[in-house]
Amino acid sequence: MDSSTKQYDVVIVGGGWAGSALAYKLASANKKVLVLEAGIAIDGLITNPDENQLVTGNRAEFMNDFFMAMAKTPESPYVQNYNAPRPSVLDIQPVPPFKLTQPPPPDQADLPHLPEPAPPPAPINCTDVKASIDNGYFIQRGPIPFGSTYERRGGGTSWHWLGTSLRMLPNDFKLKTLYNQAVDWPLTYEDLSDYYDQAEFEIGVSADVNEQTIHGITFSEGYVYPMAKIPPTILDNTIQAGVGSLTFDGSSLNVTGTPAGRNGVPNQLKDGSFYDNGRRQCQGNTNCTPICPIQAKYDATVTMGKALMTGNVDIIYQAVATNVLLDKNTPVNPEVVGIEYKTYETTGGPCTGTFIATGTKYIIAAHAIEAAKLLLMSNTQIPAGVANHSGQVGKNLMDHPMYLGWGLMPEPVYPFRGPLSTSGIEGPRDGAFRSTRASFRIEIGNEGWNWPGGAPYAQVIDMVSPMPPDGSGTPTAGIFGSALRKAIQSTFTRQFRIGFLIEQLPDDNCYIVPSKTCFDNLGVPRPEIYYQFDDYTMEGFKAAAAATDFIFNTMNVENNTGIPVGSGGAFVYQGVTYYPQGAGHVMGTHRMGFTRDDSVTDANMKSWEHDNLYIVGCGSMPTTATSNPTLTMMALAFKAADAILASF
Ligand SMILES: Cc1cc2nc3c(=O)[nH]c(=O)nc-3n(C[C@H](O)[C@H](O)[C@H](O)COP(=O)(O)OP(=O)(O)OC[C@H]3O[C@@H](n4cnc5c(N)ncnc54)[C@H](O)[C@@H]3O)c2cc1C
Repeated sequence: MDSSTKQYDVVIVGGGWAGSALAYKLASANKKVLVLEAGIAIDGLITNPDENQLVTGNRAEFMNDFFMAMAKTPESPYVQNYNAPRPSVLDIQPVPPFKLTQPPPPDQADLPHLPEPAPPPAPINCTDVKASIDNGYFIQRGPIPFGSTYERRGGGTSWHWLGTSLRMLPNDFKLKTLYNQAVDWPLTYEDLSDYYDQAEFEIGVSADVNEQTIHGITFSEGYVYPMAKIPPTILDNTIQAGVGSLTFDGSSLNVTGTPAGRNGVPNQLKDGSFYDNGRRQCQGNTNCTPICPIQAKYDATVTMGKALMTGNVDIIYQAVATNVLLDKNTPVNPEVVGIEYKTYETTGGPCTGTFIATGTKYIIAAHAIEAAKLLLMSNTQIPAGVANHSGQVGKNLMDHPMYLGWGLMPEPVYPFRGPLSTSGIEGPRDGAFRSTRASFRIEIGNEGWNWPGGAPYAQVIDMVSPMPPDGSGTPTAGIFGSALRKAIQSTFTRQFRIGFLIEQLPDDNCYIVPSKTCFDNLGVPRPEIYYQFDDYTMEGFKAAAAATDFIFNTMNVENNTGIPVGSGGAFVYQGVTYYPQGAGHVMGTHRMGFTRDDSVTDANMKSWEHDNLYIVGCGSMPTTATSNPTLTMMALAFKAADAILASF
């Protein structure tokens, strides 16, 4: 669709989480906003000629695709779109197949230190564009594959987020000052506190203020979360009873409720009213990722819907931004004069047009990897790319690489019900140890071994047709009938896993660039990624493995930790092999900072070089801390919106 007939106050690239928040806040202040969204509309219908099927954008269809999918990955409900492709965990780095019920070989009995990593993948041939994308959208070039993914459709990655909505700790903003590591943020916890309130109310976060004052987090006078805390599961209470009063490496292992972006029971607010966002209460489907079947969990279509209701927002779907155009008449620090975008009719069909959207201000909110790629691609005037005087665009790619530990409790803890995670262990998020090793938080998973071991499907197959112990040959006859029922009851009721979200430092050697050889169906370069871990992060993994042993030994857990199914590759540190998983928290690629020489934007996410350009998202974050990043990102988006409004 052509937008050239209309002049907007603000053009936003990306109709995902950050884009929706910005559109809503700007449109509520009467600004005329255009959103360019690369993916398909939600509730829209689009024909995919290659598959001869309808690709739809509504929840019922997503659920259907999810039910039919063999592997229930985060992307399984969402069909690939070759004109706005996205990565999938299945494509990132397959690890050798393994059987959870098999004992480890004798020389590797000291789990989790299992066999050597898989060999690196063969070189990628991108000549057949669609086949190549089917094998993985990312071009992985580093020693470790980048293990996280995202969505490209209306609502963005909010479609498959888990819902964890923790605030950052005050100390997280001062890593350099306090621990002589990496950099400080150009703002403090206090600067964000009110924006955190706004974000929590937009999402509808369920939590208890008294429980969240951990590590110095403060709240405004009389603050209540919009929704009451979602109660802990039997598993949460069992872990609290087992280790909650103990410490590991000086950090408390106390179990606390995790603030969640899903509806619990509405709280009575300061003004006496009850919070109401019109969505349903969580029914405990244990399916937050990849999709909440009843929209109890927040997703960005909620906020985009409100933005559209203002009457001040136009959104063009199937519009892939490909070039940030700069004013050719201004040689130094030119302003942005337009966004070039390509359109398409079908997810596998050809480009149907190239257009230019114009406004007074521009915001890139296309997710950390796509945003950096777009800036680096837009290099017609400035060879280094737009907003890249510092050379930091695309650099410092970070995640919360995860260490998973899993086992069987001595007694049933009844997983596979309730939200995917209701509690965590937050003590290890801060401490003097941060001057030498990464901090982490420990997420408690309510979905048995689903993430690390494909439960329940993989174990049931293993029970009815087990492989010989050495993994070779044909499956043998297993158990059926009452024996099978008993095995299922005794195993699945005791399964659990914990996941460590490990802090990662910014690093010039972790970066994304637009590929010069691999393109998507519109001819847009795909992201080429270089990724690795430094000693600080790997020390975090070592501590996470030790903490797993400590917790499991203390609680008499049968430790089944091994090689997780799926993404992440492997690395060896001090002779031990680790299997990191992506958390889906893509950060750092357009970081904010104190000066134009070491960062891409200022603390309002305004480009240092282009006065009317803002770059907003988790890519703005200078360091990762340990809290899942999106609540903070939404707070930052609201802060950027205020700065943009003040600049008119
Ligand atoms: C499995 C999983 C679980 C997660 N769970 C949590 C959690 O519990 N808590 C938490 O804090 N975070 C979580 N996250 C992270 C969270 O989903 C992201 O941080 C968040 O969605 C990022 O928001 P965004 O607006 O930057 O990007 P997105 O929400 O991805 O939106 C970006 C939008 O830009 C569009 N776009 C991209 N390129 C272009 C282009 N060239 N032109 C036009 N449009 C474009 C995309 O189509 C997309 O709609 C999770 C992520 C994953 C993968």
